[in-house]
Amino acid sequence: MQAFPIEKFRNLQTPFYFYDIELLRKTLQVVVLEAAKYDYHIHYAVKANKNPRILSIIREMGLGADCVSGGEIETVLNEGFSAEKVVFAGVGKTDWEINLGLEKDIFCFNVESIPELVVINHLACAKNTIARVALRINPEIDSHTHHYITTGIKDNKFGINLDQLDRVLDMLSTLSSIQLVGIHFHIGSQIMDLTPFRLLCSQVNELQQKFIQRGIFLKHINFGGGLGIDYENPDENPIPSFREYFNVFRTHFFVLNNQQIHFELGRSIVGQCGNLISKVLYVKEGSVKRFVILDAGFTELIRPAFYESYHVIENLSLEEATDVYDVVGPICESSDCFAKQRVLKKTYRGDIIAIRSAGAYGEVMASQYNCRQLPKSHFSDC
Ligand SMILES: *Cc1c(COP(=O)(O)O)cnc(C)c1O
Repeated sequence: MQAFPIEKFRNLQTPFYFYDIELLRKTLQVVVLEAAKYDYHIHYAVKANKNPRILSIIREMGLGADCVSGGEIETVLNEGFSAEKVVFAGVGKTDWEINLGLEKDIFCFNVESIPELVVINHLACAKNTIARVALRINPEIDSHTHHYITTGIKDNKFGINLDQLDRVLDMLSTLSSIQLVGIHFHIGSQIMDLTPFRLLCSQVNELQQKFIQRGIFLKHINFGGGLGIDYENPDENPIPSFREYFNVFRTHFFVLNNQQIHFELGRSIVGQCGNLISKVLYVKEGSVKRFVILDAGFTELIRPAFYESYHVIENLSLEEATDVYDVVGPICESSDCFAKQRVLKKTYRGDIIAIRSAGAYGEVMASQYNCRQLPKSHFSDC
């Protein structure tokens, strides 16, 4: 079990995020080491966590940034990331966001539709510049066999469909302010079984032939992110197996000479280093259930309410006995529930509770619903 500084926690106002900086650094060391073996380029997916301290550590380790909005581009540039390592994705880029990307001369726009290409071409032309673009292609990997893939199937909003690709390429040759530098994919998130990544490689190998036939050399292949973390066993598996993950691409994708391979990892980098720390307000005996009511709710961590996701929940007290509880928050919505029928140490008012593996899509999704304050963050090394 992770050693939390519980005495320190007692003096802090709850709820707050607590980041294990040693774990973040170790995780980054592993990613950087494993990626360097094959000269892979990693862009951190900023939407997973934009805490300034976390971003600065990620930047120090030399990663680039994957942004999905103009606000994220501003955030990472202010944090000192270099524009030449910034990629910009998203199905709904606005004019000001595209202009910002052009002005800052970011590395690449990941483009998701023909009308978007037309607008980028127009805005780049007006600035007398050339936009570097990668086509985000929807690889249409069958979701029935792999239900955890949510963004790479034919009927969702992301990417350019395979049957549109010829049209897009015909169109591209008429857009003089656009330079096609590569192709981009992102098939989903929290992917634990690596099979879909293997399928993606086969799909991209085939696609690559199509580009070669048309006389197009793709300098950059971006496989996106999606590597999962072990939410059930954060202490046993604090660092995902980046080695195995990269090895899939190494083994199954046929890289061409002078081609650069990119990834956009979010959750797998920051997921395990974050914990939501909360205090027990009340233990309430219902007629059929016992509730632990926390001072944290879905305003601080929305994943359980939003995606019914699982987080390990620990009572940090020294109590030995256990009991079964529903762990809920104070927000006026029935979905404000962190766990149902969970075994915890016997719990009392004032106990400190850690909700584990909350570093990704946690603090960054906090809201002020019910006029609540946004949570503060604290770090293991200060
Ligand atoms: C969200 C997202 C990522 C990161 O996904 P993770 O599952 O956190 O690794 C990467 N690329 C794009 C385009 C995304 O939208």
